[in-house]
Amino acid sequence: MNSPTPPATGRGPVETQESNSAVAALGAKGRSKEQQESLETAEYARTPTGELPSFAADLFAGRFDAQALLDFPLPTPAQAAEGEDFLKKLRVFLEENLDGDEVDETGEVPAKVFEGFRKLGVFGMKIPKEYGGLGLSQLSYVKALSLVAEYCNSTAGILSAHQSIGVPEPLKRFGTTEQKKRWLPKLAAGAISAFALTEPEVGSDPARLATTAMPTDDGKHWIINGTKLWCSNGVIADLIVVMARTPDRAPAANSASARPAKRPISAFVVDMKTPGIKILHRCRFMGLSGFQNAVIEFKDVKIPADHLLLGEGKGLRLALTTLNTGRLSVPMGCIAAIRGCLRRARGWGATRRQWGAAIGAHEAGAAKIADLSATLLSMEAMSWLACGWSDRGNRDLRLEAAMVKLYTSTRSHACIDSTLQLLGGRGYERASSLKARGEEPFPVERLLRDSRINQIIEGTTEIMGLYIGREALDFHLKLAGPALDPRRGLIARAASALKAGATYAFWYPWQWVPRERFRSFRAFGPGARMALQSARLARHVALALFHQMLRHGPGLERRQLQLLRLTEAATGVFALAATAGYVHALHAAGESPEIGATADVFLRHERARIEGHLKSVRSRRQSKTDAADRKLAAKILEGKLAWQETLR
Ligand SMILES: Cc1cc2nc3c(=O)[nH]c(=O)nc-3n(C[C@H](O)[C@H](O)[C@H](O)COP(=O)(O)OP(=O)(O)OC[C@H]3O[C@@H](n4cnc5c(N)ncnc54)[C@H](O)[C@@H]3O)c2cc1C
Repeated sequence: MNSPTPPATGRGPVETQESNSAVAALGAKGRSKEQQESLETAEYARTPTGELPSFAADLFAGRFDAQALLDFPLPTPAQAAEGEDFLKKLRVFLEENLDGDEVDETGEVPAKVFEGFRKLGVFGMKIPKEYGGLGLSQLSYVKALSLVAEYCNSTAGILSAHQSIGVPEPLKRFGTTEQKKRWLPKLAAGAISAFALTEPEVGSDPARLATTAMPTDDGKHWIINGTKLWCSNGVIADLIVVMARTPDRAPAANSASARPAKRPISAFVVDMKTPGIKILHRCRFMGLSGFQNAVIEFKDVKIPADHLLLGEGKGLRLALTTLNTGRLSVPMGCIAAIRGCLRRARGWGATRRQWGAAIGAHEAGAAKIADLSATLLSMEAMSWLACGWSDRGNRDLRLEAAMVKLYTSTRSHACIDSTLQLLGGRGYERASSLKARGEEPFPVERLLRDSRINQIIEGTTEIMGLYIGREALDFHLKLAGPALDPRRGLIARAASALKAGATYAFWYPWQWVPRERFRSFRAFGPGARMALQSARLARHVALALFHQMLRHGPGLERRQLQLLRLTEAATGVFALAATAGYVHALHAAGESPEIGATADVFLRHERARIEGHLKSVRSRRQSKTDAADRKLAAKILEGKLAWQETLR
């Protein structure tokens, strides 16, 4: 049973840009010029991908597509066999050659690891076979990264920066045949690549990008000037993708763009040997000590005209689309870490005795161990589902990728921290020190340091939440936005309001109907209760979002904490739904004893978390607390509480 659907809006780029610009116009009155420019830049780069609508976006509209989950995209036997074969060889190599603790201590990944990877084809895992790569599916690729991360996160990060966001990904997706032929074979053979968007003044907000690329008078070259910050692999890269501002000019005749982007951003492939490029600094971090991350200066760097990717002014869209796919790789380290934590927690929890019982038998320890198993199941479910859908290539996955990234990065960090707590003093001790005194050297403190970055790279947790919130509002903005768009005439707005009103007259009461109770979820097997709860909670999220829109109007975008609670709730619903599908698929494959017990614990906890978020969204007291926080922060920023910063 599906809910009444608002009129479909076109998904083509032209119409999308028009509706995006309409969205940017809403609530413009309360924004500064700088804020408006940032929003317009972000809106301009929004492009749905795939013909099938997003499963997660449907949740925000109260719809639950059970069939999409029952058809869980596990790999075909042939794909699985090919992936498994490669993973076996990779594991043997890693076992003999890669020691994550050694990399952590020395700050370097040994050269023999890179050499071995080149022989195994690891640098071309995602590159099609016709260009010399292994042509692995997204799922097999992420599993391979997860295997490398089991040994060393720095090494997995280097591989991911090269293939998830570095040159191969945008080149494969947006390059011309000639560009692919020129660079992909080199990259598959082991040339290392990187992705350079961030600058000293440009973090989450690309609107302030300052690096420029100016065409030469004869149009045969581009001249790049600027500085890029935190470019992963920057120190060792052979080729990098650089995002830079290009001159404001009319779109090409064949462009799908209805209006040119303001202050356009374009993307270029740059050979790092080009004169004028200088590595100013190798950055060192809290974790990932073997990472080769750089501040790079570009001074009059002259590159051939045909190094431009996708087209002038389309660089931001290229970058954001690349980051979308990149987000699907973030869970690899998270899942690897929790696999290790679960293994260690099982051994420790059963054998370490204090106060007359095993640590895992005390209730506080038991809860931590149960949470590891439940969280691991849900993280795998979301990641494998999103990767499988990505391999099918026909679904808009922007929201799912953001949700998977948000969920796995925050939950895994919390789980690693609770494993550290379970291990007590040994959790805080370095693996090398544990080893030196003959104890099991499980590196949980390193995992905690390494995993923190996942909440920052490829979109911070806050930006992911706001991005999901923006996509969640799309359903309503497309429906009601034209009626509120100040740039439209009165009659046109009145007609749009009537149309929206007619749709809401059906949609809204329908969300109050507990229709999932009359639907059978038996096909989900041990995932049935979870599927039913996902359908129920999706309705509740849809209603909560709608009520917030009524309450705040376009000003909802400024109620970030409310939006973040809603996105946390919806992400939880997606986690439940994905897990229902995964449990069904594993059960049908006849594997995984006791999966029902893990699924049950996950359902209990996730349901409570989602309901907690929704309760906060409805609570007047919570809104007052949010307002009090805002007021206090403003006073602190004005320096009125600076006295607190000194010992008294
Ligand atoms: C180890 C490492 C590797 C990296 N690799 C790369 C790479 O390969 N290529 C590349 O281009 N970049 C890379 N980056 C940069 C990374 O993507 C940025 O750090 C990230 O986008 C955040 O930008 P920022 O650090 O400048 O934070 P800022 O954007 O300054 O944000 C600071 C804080 O404010 C919050 N915030 C920002 N805007 C808002 C808002 N509107 N509302 C509410 N909160 C907000 C953020 O969530 C964050 O908590 C890397 C960074 C690190 C540390």
